[in-house]
Amino acid sequence: MGERASRADTIFPAVYGERLADTFDGLPLNTATLERLRSGLTFTLPERIQTLTSDTADKYLWRLSDGCTVESVLMKHEFGHNICVSTQVGCNMGCAFCVSGRLKRRRDLTVSEMAGQVVGTARHSGIRPGGISIMGIGEPLENFDNVLDFIGIMTYPKGFDIGIKHITLSTCGVVPGIYKLAESAYPVNLAISLHAPTDELRGKLMPITRRYPISEVMGAARDYSEKLNRRITLEYVMLDGVNDSDECAAQLAGLIGSMNAYVNLIRYNSGADSEFRCSPHERIMGFYDTLKKHGVGVTMRRSLGDTINAACGQLSAHGSDNKA
Ligand code: SF4
Repeated sequence: MGERASRADTIFPAVYGERLADTFDGLPLNTATLERLRSGLTFTLPERIQTLTSDTADKYLWRLSDGCTVESVLMKHEFGHNICVSTQVGCNMGCAFCVSGRLKRRRDLTVSEMAGQVVGTARHSGIRPGGISIMGIGEPLENFDNVLDFIGIMTYPKGFDIGIKHITLSTCGVVPGIYKLAESAYPVNLAISLHAPTDELRGKLMPITRRYPISEVMGAARDYSEKLNRRITLEYVMLDGVNDSDECAAQLAGLIGSMNAYVNLIRYNSGADSEFRCSPHERIMGFYDTLKKHGVGVTMRRSLGDTINAACGQLSAHGSDNKA
């Protein structure tokens, strides 16, 4: 806008700092600058059209300026609160078990639409997030530049000031994007949705496998881990009779080998019309034990928000105007 760069240091904290201002009123700027700001910038957030709350998570449904809808989730952990954001309207990756992916991608979200989910959620809940999960609807690495700018805003010290290690990006395995992220200014935590140990099985669950086979995905993950000295999370959703055998666990351990990675087992949240069911608890424990026996680090994700369809793979922007 031709203004002095130092003025951003006045404006940015007001917008993203404690105040989460929705007006420029009261900022210590001269009248001419304030006028220019008022005429050139807006504070318009996505419109909140629904909030579903539970003890562990609150799910927000947002309407964007073109009528499309997306969802974000405030996840209430004992150690702090995270906001999970969507990055696209719909998703083209077509993972068989995912409700979010049933709606075809209509468009990428803009930087302000992603930041707007966080600001809107923080304003409504009165809770400032301690971390961000880029795990909502959409494949973030397909909207790379906008997602990176969004991370820049979230980590900026005069705003939300969220540490890079408190931001996790989850990808279904877009290999070139993983290499690009490793070279970027924002090396966030990387989670890879693996969900199967062989190309044959993964191909049935995740069509992206035909584009990027598991060997390439694991190669990119290893590169990320080694370059940035980071531990990679491999997400693995437990599907009854599909990917939950001890043989699958042993194959998964073989894939990981000496890589600095751990497996996060996720209980599947099956919707009424889902062809999949969650593995029984004993089978999940058997899978867990087999991984442990092979020396693999493994955790089981507490499923937050499954009573309000806010858990993994359940975001779908119901009641939306999204048309493919
Ligand atoms: S799991 Fe992620 S990448 Fe796969 S369809 Fe769902 S939103 Fe898309």
